[in-house]
Amino acid sequence: MRITEEQIKLVNGRIKALIEADNFYGKRLKAAGVNEISTVEEFEKLPFSEKADLRDAYPLGLMTAKESDIVRIHSSSGTTGKPVIIPYTAKDVDDWAIMFKRCYEIAGITNMDRIHITPGYGLWTAGIGFQNGAEKLGAMAIPMGPGNTEKQLQMMQDMKSTVLCSTSSYALLLTEEVEKRGIKDKIFLKKGIIGSERWSDKMKKTISEGLGISLYDIYGLTEIYGPGIGISCDENTGMHYFDDYIYIEIINPVTGENLPDGEWGEVVITTLVKEGAPLIRYRTHDLSRIVPGSCPCGCEFPRLDTIMGRTDDMMKIKGVNVFPSQIEEILQKFPEVSSEYQIRISHLDGKDTMRIYVETNGTVDFLELAKRIADRVKSVIGFTPLVKVVEEGVLPRSEKKTKRVIDERYDEV
Ligand code: ZN
Repeated sequence: MRITEEQIKLVNGRIKALIEADNFYGKRLKAAGVNEISTVEEFEKLPFSEKADLRDAYPLGLMTAKESDIVRIHSSSGTTGKPVIIPYTAKDVDDWAIMFKRCYEIAGITNMDRIHITPGYGLWTAGIGFQNGAEKLGAMAIPMGPGNTEKQLQMMQDMKSTVLCSTSSYALLLTEEVEKRGIKDKIFLKKGIIGSERWSDKMKKTISEGLGISLYDIYGLTEIYGPGIGISCDENTGMHYFDDYIYIEIINPVTGENLPDGEWGEVVITTLVKEGAPLIRYRTHDLSRIVPGSCPCGCEFPRLDTIMGRTDDMMKIKGVNVFPSQIEEILQKFPEVSSEYQIRISHLDGKDTMRIYVETNGTVDFLELAKRIADRVKSVIGFTPLVKVVEEGVLPRSEKKTKRVIDERYDEV
């Protein structure tokens, strides 16, 4: 999916604005002597932008439009160091809502739906993105925000919510609560729009069957509007993204070279019309691929495959490169275990150790199951982990992102 002439024209508009604003990317373009581009090759030679560049611009160094045109800021959570502040113009806010409305439509949601929104409202982009999209569509938004599961379930029943917007871990928690209370027949949900983290097919099945809903993966990141720049459809063949607003390329995360459609690599995004804080060739560190060909659903927008993880999730254990998704795939083959797991890596007696915690119900032989899982991991990855089987419900569930990999090697130094 190489950049089109039309998209190049839009990029040139952003290049001009960035040079005028003289921010980090404008300076980079000037240093490279670039005023505009005219070919795919020239585009692919433009410098990348990185999260660190955005952090260095704190607080308002990314602002590219006039301050009088900025109507709002959002901020990424910033777990390490300074946060990133993204300014939005009124047009940016509206463009985002238009994309989000499209997402709801691709999922078959209409203005007769009642949309129950559990992601947080505030500095980050989640809740308000779901809200503006719902209003743009003309549906009824129920702006719950996170937490207070008791109240969530009460409102869900009283308001007869038809669409659940949440993270996968919170959807799982709600599913378990609905089952525990035996209130499935009082829940009117039909669809779930689930965002912000990678989740297994097993977890999908648990939620989808537990709540009796169809599920859709929504994609987005604060640096690029927020959630709502792409969504999966009923065919479940990747997420349609809106190439009139963003251009996506896939690169080799080590060499930075562009990869052809169908090959897995790092997702790099260019905003084509964003005014407040345009980004060119922004490295997301998300791992995915462009799905080749067209979707049987008939939607013409191109597709990005499910996010398989982060390029920085790669763990080096005993000299072997391991992705958490590989472990997850192995665990999915065991029907006895739940969708929850935890990986702990530590350095004991001079060697790396990987411990895998999995949950099961009480009806199987824990030791025998642990051995079978350890053997399977050894046959795929090449070394034997320590597998601990625990009772279902013991591993932590979270309303936000569940941390599944804990690397203790670096805490000990
Ligand atoms: Zn489709």
